[in-house]
Amino acid sequence: MTSARRILLWLALCYALVPSNAASQAGLRLTYELTLRPGAREIPVALQIDGLNSDMLALELTADYGAIPDYQRKILDLRADGEPVERNDQWVVQIRTSGKDSVIVSYRIDLTGHDRSRGTTLPTVDDRHAFIPGASTFVFPSEARIGEVRVQIDKPADWNIDTSWGIDMDEYRFDGTDSDDLVYSFVASGDYRVETIEFDGIGVHTAFRGQGWTRDDEVQDFLLRVLASHRDTFQTTPFKRLLAVGDFFYDRGVTSGSAFHNSINLLMPRDRKLSDDVGFQNLIAHESFHLWNGGDGVLAYADYEVLWLSEGVTDFYAQKNLLRARLIDDEEMLEEMAGKYLRLNVSFLRNVPLPEVGSQYFEDPRARSLVYTKGALAGFLIDTYLQSTTGGVESLDDVVRTLAKSRNNVERGEKYRNDDVLGALETVGGAELVQLFQDFSSGDYRPALEGVLDLAGYRIERVDEPGYTLGIYDLGGRLQAATVRALDREGAAFGAGVRENDVILEMDGRSIRDRRALEEEMKWITDGNGEPILIVVGRGSDRLLLTIEPERFYKFRFTRKEPPLEASKAEGIVARKRGVEAGFSRF
Ligand SMILES: [Zn+2]
Repeated sequence: MTSARRILLWLALCYALVPSNAASQAGLRLTYELTLRPGAREIPVALQIDGLNSDMLALELTADYGAIPDYQRKILDLRADGEPVERNDQWVVQIRTSGKDSVIVSYRIDLTGHDRSRGTTLPTVDDRHAFIPGASTFVFPSEARIGEVRVQIDKPADWNIDTSWGIDMDEYRFDGTDSDDLVYSFVASGDYRVETIEFDGIGVHTAFRGQGWTRDDEVQDFLLRVLASHRDTFQTTPFKRLLAVGDFFYDRGVTSGSAFHNSINLLMPRDRKLSDDVGFQNLIAHESFHLWNGGDGVLAYADYEVLWLSEGVTDFYAQKNLLRARLIDDEEMLEEMAGKYLRLNVSFLRNVPLPEVGSQYFEDPRARSLVYTKGALAGFLIDTYLQSTTGGVESLDDVVRTLAKSRNNVERGEKYRNDDVLGALETVGGAELVQLFQDFSSGDYRPALEGVLDLAGYRIERVDEPGYTLGIYDLGGRLQAATVRALDREGAAFGAGVRENDVILEMDGRSIRDRRALEEEMKWITDGNGEPILIVVGRGSDRLLLTIEPERFYKFRFTRKEPPLEASKAEGIVARKRGVEAGFSRF
């Protein structure tokens, strides 16, 4: 996900530098020849490009769905007409065509050294079949008009190959297409269960690997319902066909995913059921919403300043549209938002304005989760405000549609920036909404959020939960030293003197090697009886011995206020009543 973002932004810069492509009116003709052999460690590819009429051609080294670090290094021995192509270690290279009308590009895809457990994103070949994700297999011309694509596969005679273009053919050909079509995988039968389902008359190809507690058809049904909800938000479908690749892989309920062009890649938990796992549901809703918001979607962004919208608002819409599709209820959505509120409260960067948080996303690990918490709550804030003040007539949908109309990447190729977002807020909700957003983004976000919840008839409540906590939240990477990155400033550890960036070295005499070791200790504390514990923290060159008394776990809840309202707030009553009537069920 993160590297896909980088790539897209980098490509945006790159396009500005690349001279406009002068492919002929009919478009380029691309012919790929792939050689598949059992157990191969490399896949040789030859690409013939016909119909050139420029001196330079920008070649996109395809994408990795964000899951393969340094993917461009997996493309070996890139040549044009036999001559090595000068590499820049980036995703787009330029090849000199010197006025010729055709060129043969050759390369090999290195299949080694990729941790398959991270997903399906590099091609895989075994003794009987292959899985070839187009996005990490095909090098293709950037921005050029493409007239025809052929793919020929040289493979052992007894292999049957299923593709998103057809079943069991050795040659694939499609006319009048664009490079998007290339990112569709073709999938050798056996390892993946390949099927095509229909959404609005559009083919949605699904490919599943592994088995979990959730059946393929449950994932498919869920996906279709969520896609319909997303389409209702924007009132348009941004893809001509869609590839959804799902790996039942993780055992511990961890999920991750990515979206690229017209495909989504989902790493799904084996040991959870989709119907009762919020994280699993969110994964599908979040990644599929990226087909509209972010990347190449209807709303494509131009810089990191709006990452809160492309990621955080996508997270909000994951919830909103699960609710719209009746896959969750109001309470579940509010619980998710209240969870984000807790995580925002314990972040050291909680008062950093949203555009700056986005800019720090890649540099500061603390900013990463904040994009999703503060960004999602910004979406929630705007949506709730608009619904409450208009009796449910307007919502965040109007903001994103307004933004999409003025910056529609699909039709106009324009991408939005922070100012465009502010402009859309003003168009829909006037100066008041802009001010509300600025207050939330740049100052103390709490009064803004409390005010809007109040308007909608809700208040924020702190509720005790079973078990104990130290009030330490983010502890850094799994195998790194246990560094305090998020801390409840009203919590136990903070009260005992623990501060940001302290490294936890010992706990009750047991040494803590890394975050994972600390998590084990934390489990013990959670289930314990609240006895004080001794910890040793490292702070610079100092070592401090501190005693912490664990406190009860708590969470926040957004609860409906009891009527009646105070008579003095005469004006507020109307707005509030309308808000209550609208509730959250109009999503
Ligand atoms: Zn995302």
